[in-house]
Amino acid sequence: MHKKYSRKDFIKLGTLAGTGLLLAACGANDNEEQKKTIITKSDSATIKSENIYKVRLIKKDDSQYEELRKGYNKCINKFPLVIALCTTTADVVEAMNYANENNLAIAVKSGGHSLEGFSSNDSGMVINLSKMNTVEFLAENRIKIGPGCTVSELYNIILPKKRIIPIGSCGTVGLGGLTLGGGYGLFSRKYGLTCDNLLEATMVDGNGKIHSTKDDPELLWALRGGGSGNFGVVTELIYKSYTAPAIIQAHHFKAKKLNAERAKNILEKWFEFAAQLPNSCFSAYVLNGNNLTILVTNFEKHTEKLQTLLDTLALETDEYKTGGPGKIAYMLKNYYGSLVPIYFKNSSAGLYKNFDEISEFISDILHKSIHTPGMMFQMNTLGGNIANPEFEKVSCYPHRAYNFIAELQAYWYTAGKDEKLKKVSKEILDILSDNKITAQYINYCSLDFEDWETAYYGNNYKRLQAVKREYDSNNIIHHPQSIKA
Ligand SMILES: Cc1cc2nc3c(=O)[nH]c(=O)nc-3n(C[C@H](O)[C@H](O)[C@H](O)COP(=O)(O)OP(=O)(O)OC[C@H]3O[C@@H](n4cnc5c(N)ncnc54)[C@H](O)[C@@H]3O)c2cc1C
Repeated sequence: MHKKYSRKDFIKLGTLAGTGLLLAACGANDNEEQKKTIITKSDSATIKSENIYKVRLIKKDDSQYEELRKGYNKCINKFPLVIALCTTTADVVEAMNYANENNLAIAVKSGGHSLEGFSSNDSGMVINLSKMNTVEFLAENRIKIGPGCTVSELYNIILPKKRIIPIGSCGTVGLGGLTLGGGYGLFSRKYGLTCDNLLEATMVDGNGKIHSTKDDPELLWALRGGGSGNFGVVTELIYKSYTAPAIIQAHHFKAKKLNAERAKNILEKWFEFAAQLPNSCFSAYVLNGNNLTILVTNFEKHTEKLQTLLDTLALETDEYKTGGPGKIAYMLKNYYGSLVPIYFKNSSAGLYKNFDEISEFISDILHKSIHTPGMMFQMNTLGGNIANPEFEKVSCYPHRAYNFIAELQAYWYTAGKDEKLKKVSKEILDILSDNKITAQYINYCSLDFEDWETAYYGNNYKRLQAVKREYDSNNIIHHPQSIKA
C-alpha cells in the first residue's frame, strides 16, 4: 500500500533518525532523591586562591549548580566540585589554570549528550561550554561555531542563509561532542561525517596553552573522530558548509507484529536495498518491540530508479507511505527528538560491511529486542562519501569501510525501572563480542565494551596516545574511556 502523508503524519514520524527515535514521547520530572543527595555530599578538595580567576565558577551552593550539573541522560548523576561556566577561550584558560592549581580532574561538556556521562565527573571540575554557542559566517562558505551550539540552534541560523553542514539529527546534541567523535546524519553519505568537514579548531591543552590546528595537522587528524574529552578543550570549530537543499522527501515503511524470523528476513532485504541507495539518501531500520519502521530520506530529485528500488522494499513490508517533499527546515525538525532529558541506555551495536557478518546470530538479538519492552534495535546507513579515502587520510575515524551502523536503545519513564533493560542490553552486546563484532562508534559509547581502545579507534590508538602525550601528558582531562598517555 503506497499512501501520501498528511502534515499530521509527519509530526508522528517525528524521531526516526539516529538516537532521536521515540525520544519525543519521554521526559518525566526530575526525581527528588537526586536533589537531596547533592545537599548532603561534602567537598573533598581544598580550593586555593579563588578570587584571582576571571571565570564564573559554580559550586554546590549556587542556584545554577543543579541545572548545570545534569546531562541529557537522566540515569547519570555526577557531582563535580566546581563547574566553570565559560564564555570565551580565555575563560577556558582560566578554568584550566584553576583546575591545575587545585589538582582537579577535568571533564568537558558541550551539549551534555554523552551516553555514559563522560562530560561530567565526581569531585572534579566540569568545563561547561554551553554558553559558547555562537555561529559566525566566514569567507569561502566556512562557518565558525562554538562547541556549545546545538544542532537546532545551528540550523535556526544557517538554514535561513541556505547553508548546511552534515551534522546529526537530534536537536539538542552539541556540536562539540558530535564533531569530535565523528558525527553522521541525513547528509553524511553525500558530504562525509561532521568531523570530515571540520577545517580548523582552537584548543586549550591540559596546561592552559591555546593551540590552533593550523600549526599542527596531527592535532586536526586526532580531533576528527578522536577528540572527545582527550587532549584539551576545543573552543572554536571552523567547518566547510554546503548549499542547503530546498526540500527533503521521506519514505516510510511499516511491518507489524513481527517475530524474529520475519524481522531478520526484512533486515536482510533492507541491507540489499540500502546498498543501492544514492548518496542523497539516508535509511534506518528501526525495530521497536515487534513493530518495524523503515525510514528512507532523500534530499535530491526523486528518480524513477529510486522509486523502483523503494517498490522492492514495499513488497517486503505491510505499509508504505511517502511524505513531502517538504521544506528542509520543517522536515529536519521532525527528527529533533525530545528536547528535555530522559532515562535511557543506548549504545553502539557494531559497524558492518554486509548482512553476512550478522546472519548467524542476528535472530537471537532480534528475538531479545522484540521481547523486551522499551528496547529498540536500529540499523542505519553510513557509506557513500563517508568511505572517501581522502577523508581517511586526514582523520583518525577508523570505520570508513563499514557501510552500516547498529544502535541498541532502551528507554524507560521512571527512575530505577531499568534492571531488565540493562541486563538484556548487556546480553546483546555479549552476543556481538562473542561473534567477534569489534568495531564500535565512540559517539555511541558504552562502558560494556572491554577493548574500547580498538573498538573506537582501530589501529589508530597508539598514534592518538602520542597526541595525548603532546597536549595533556598529566592526564588532567579524562573520563573512563579517554585516551591514556
Ligand atoms: C538523543 C541523541 C541523539 C543523537 N543523535 C546522533 C546522530 O544523529 N548522529 C550522531 O553521529 N550521533 C548522535 N548522537 C550521539 C552524539 O553524537 C554523542 O552523544 C555526542 O558525543 C554528544 O555531544 P555533546 O556535545 O552533546 O555531548 P557532551 O556530553 O557534552 O560531550 C560528549 C563527549 O565529548 C567530549 N567533548 C564535548 N565537547 C568537547 C570539547 N569542546 N572539547 C573536547 N571534548 C569535548 C566530552 O568530554 C564527552 O566525552 C546522539 C545522542 C543522543 C543522546
